Amino acid sequence: MRNVPIHSLYSQWGRFGLYSFFIDGREPVIIDTGVASSPSGGMSPALKALGRRIEDVRWILLTHGHIDHIGGAHALWELTGRRAKVIIHEADAPFLRSRRTHVEEYLAARGRYIKDPDGAARLTAAGLAAISGEMEPDRVVRHGDELALGPDVAVTVHSVPGHTAGSVAFVVEGQRDVFAGDAVQIHGAANGFPSYVDPDAYRASLLHLRDHVKPSRLFLGHAYRSQCAESLGVELNREQAAAKIQESLDIEARVRAATRDPGRDGANIAPAAHSPFCCIARHLGYDSDPLLEPSPFFTTMHGYFHLGDRP
Ligand SMILES: [Zn+2]
Repeated sequence: MRNVPIHSLYSQWGRFGLYSFFIDGREPVIIDTGVASSPSGGMSPALKALGRRIEDVRWILLTHGHIDHIGGAHALWELTGRRAKVIIHEADAPFLRSRRTHVEEYLAARGRYIKDPDGAARLTAAGLAAISGEMEPDRVVRHGDELALGPDVAVTVHSVPGHTAGSVAFVVEGQRDVFAGDAVQIHGAANGFPSYVDPDAYRASLLHLRDHVKPSRLFLGHAYRSQCAESLGVELNREQAAAKIQESLDIEARVRAATRDPGRDGANIAPAAHSPFCCIARHLGYDSDPLLEPSPFFTTMHGYFHLGDRP
């Protein structure tokens, strides 16, 4: 069977570059949907340039529940005449069903470190603007599920929690193309720090991708950066994928070590904005603004220190 063509579809959201992917099968598939403006603003013109129509999309697959991946789902579904089937892992489905879930997650985790009385209100407003609608998925999936997306595309679901509890990688059978969403963070995206709510799960998922999935091509949710190198973009070949998964593991190990032994020096020098993790930030040389949403620094620190009391 011939390999089914895959194209990336770009849309911009503030300082973030968002990527969706189009599987050009008999029943066209879109993986991840950007924010509310992405389907009409970014995807539709890009598909038109490929000689395809957004109305013909029949499957909408979501790698996880973050705003910049599910925000456009309802709008895209509407553009398909509500005919496309929407699929997400059961653990992240609440983010698709309710905008409020995003605010509750913020308040329970990183919001507690950010002394901004308007934080929740700001996120509520952002959620309203960036999420095109609340909806029930057609199907919630789990690890190992197989999806027949028309006669020529079969996808297996691999659970890769850590970035979120319901993060998945979709693996196109027969060609080992892997859509990993944000499960491979390397050095993080626009905020320069890897983001995960559950460090142990994040590490286990990277090992699963490295040792079992072994992508021949790896498609990432953002053009993640390496520590000292420019981004390779969102489409990695076999060697690049293996290298970036390994680099993500190495960075996680470094962050983990810093949370155990951050050292004593520098506690007075590190900016107070990183409090109560100033020593760790200093130890890691992380001096970016941790208050900038989505604040991966606090999300990840919360994961190391509050395993077990997450929402
Ligand atoms: Zn994400």
